Amino acid sequence: MTTNKYDLVLPDIPYNGDKVIIEYVFVNHTGYEVCSKTRIVDAEPATVEDCPVWDNYMWDDVEGKPENFKEMILKPVAMFKNPFFRSPHKLVICEFWLNMETPSTINTRYTCKKTMERLNFDPISGYRPKQPHDPWFGIEQEYFVTRDDGVPISYDPKNYNYETLILYTKLGHRHDKNIGIERELSNRHMTACLYAGIKFGGVIRENNPSQWEYQIGPCLGETIGDHLNMSRYILQRLAEMFGLRVTFHPVPVNGSPLTSSGHLNFSISKMRAKGGIKFIRHAINLLANSDEDPLLQMYDPTLNQENKERLTNTSGVWHPQLHKFVCDVGKKELVTVRIPPLVNINGCGYFEDRRPSSALDPYAAADGIVRSSIFGDFL
Ligand code: ADP
Ligand code: MN
Ligand code: MN
Ligand code: MN
Repeated sequence: MTTNKYDLVLPDIPYNGDKVIIEYVFVNHTGYEVCSKTRIVDAEPATVEDCPVWDNYMWDDVEGKPENFKEMILKPVAMFKNPFFRSPHKLVICEFWLNMETPSTINTRYTCKKTMERLNFDPISGYRPKQPHDPWFGIEQEYFVTRDDGVPISYDPKNYNYETLILYTKLGHRHDKNIGIERELSNRHMTACLYAGIKFGGVIRENNPSQWEYQIGPCLGETIGDHLNMSRYILQRLAEMFGLRVTFHPVPVNGSPLTSSGHLNFSISKMRAKGGIKFIRHAINLLANSDEDPLLQMYDPTLNQENKERLTNTSGVWHPQLHKFVCDVGKKELVTVRIPPLVNINGCGYFEDRRPSSALDPYAAADGIVRSSIFGDFL
């Protein structure tokens, strides 16, 4: 048995009384930081519409300026089972609205939903597809398990060369001294997400010390953001219980070779049907010819500052390079957009954009890839 210095704290106590606990989960102005508050109701909500609309004091702008702190409406839009207090208790994802009619400027879910609706009728060009496009998204969420100061718990730059060390898929490596507690966190996260009803795809031990990845999806349209944000919430709640933290920062230690991504996988129905690879190639061509800046801004809620650090970082070869568009099949190093090997063999499926960072806003990123690779908005 592995021992370590991090003691497990008791999980939340299941509650079996008459009342129902609902945790309201929402994202603040950063686009990726999840927050929550809890409300007690008298009966189990059957659907998300049964959860009361609430309010919350929050910044109504992406810069979080104090003068834009406002009381806003909190509208529940997606409901999950609560893995901490167990059924019938709930977790809900909420949108911010200025009033009942006007979405807040930080409500990227609303804008994303509009773009998904445009896929089935484009009011700009009048285009209506013969078959519904049914956009599917999958996100690979990388993260580091860190100490209170944000440094990964097994990162020890004095002793190892992290530019050459490859921990990807490895077990119990000697340079990886806290892997036991990290794997415990990752496994509990997986089972808690599955219990909640999140479309959880799997887990992989990533390349760097204390780095992990899990996949969410495929999810239809804007629901990718509901599932990803709720999975981040559950991960951070569990990390609290372990006395640990996790970070989604794309470069958690300044100037180090450690980087994290949030690969975005995407398809519409005709890409998934027989012969769909020609539509995949067409979408990739639109991406290759698009202006990179507006798209990269939608791929990183810090308006591309943090992601720029990652895409210009020269010590690792796994991530794409800024302004160098490379498309490849079955290859990952320095590749911007990848066609997975089985998609190439089957002649249909999906493609992967490797540029979004681990701190992506999933609603904005899904919105951005549709606008660029289907509508050609950034040509
Ligand atoms: P890799 O590490 O090789 O890029 P992963 O297995 O980590 O691949 O991630 C694959 C991702 O692709 C998952 O998030 C999955 O949900 C997503 N995905 C699978 N099929 C589709 C599809 N048809 N459309 C969109 N996303 C898909
Ligand atoms: Mn992956
Ligand atoms: Mn990865
Ligand atoms: Mn990937």
